[in-house]
Amino acid sequence: MVALGKIKNFLIDMDGTIYLGQKLLPGAKDFWSYVNSDGRKGVFLTNNSARAPKDYVQKLAGMHIPAAEEQIVTSGDAAIWHLKKHFPGQGVYLLGTPLLHAYLEQAGIPIVNGTEQKPGAVLLGFDMTLTYEKIRTAYGWIMQGVPFLATHPDILCPAENGSIPDAGAMICMFEAATGVSPVILGKPCEPMAKAILEKFGFRPEETAMIGDRLYTDIAFANRNNMTGILVLSGETTEEEYKAQNKVKADYVFPSVRELTQAALSD
Ligand SMILES: [Mg+2]
Repeated sequence: MVALGKIKNFLIDMDGTIYLGQKLLPGAKDFWSYVNSDGRKGVFLTNNSARAPKDYVQKLAGMHIPAAEEQIVTSGDAAIWHLKKHFPGQGVYLLGTPLLHAYLEQAGIPIVNGTEQKPGAVLLGFDMTLTYEKIRTAYGWIMQGVPFLATHPDILCPAENGSIPDAGAMICMFEAATGVSPVILGKPCEPMAKAILEKFGFRPEETAMIGDRLYTDIAFANRNNMTGILVLSGETTEEEYKAQNKVKADYVFPSVRELTQAALSD
């Protein structure tokens, strides 16, 4: 286990870790100051592909957390990295929001959403514009052997009045219909880790992932040889963490406040 004081790079989940909905969590400001001091680096990581880094910069600024656009990485960024690396110049059939569509196009990824041109890959993201037509077309391409990718595996997404079905729920539908499971690009999978390690030049042994969700945040650390730090300020309770043995956090804290205190005295 790496000592807290030795960790240089902090990959940080947002909802449930830094804020809860519109409310900043205790100690978040001091934690962000800590990770941006003395040669350390902080990067916010989100599986939400329906928003762009500049949206998060704005939201965080409103809570007095100053972050630059380069310090926010979304599963859309992981998708761009993966597509450029493994499907260069190839068209993508996208199931995603207009924002993700524009974000990919701006990064030079050609979107081919007709039925004539065979795409290099089918990419499934969170999609509030999903129609039966799109489901049928994507199904057809997957059945023809076109590689199937998904931005993230989260089943539900927190919303104003409770939760709403997220990309993970849509993955289940396609898996049932096609028998094919997608390559997942966001947390907890390898493409997002590779994208970040390459972009920032981080080494896994000097890097920690901090988050409130076991099967995305902590599993991401476990799978990619990083230090996993669970905070109990969001989704996971201590009882839930202890009742499972699939993922193992290196450190568990009530919130980032206690994490900062422990790191400072380490
Ligand atoms: Mg979270």
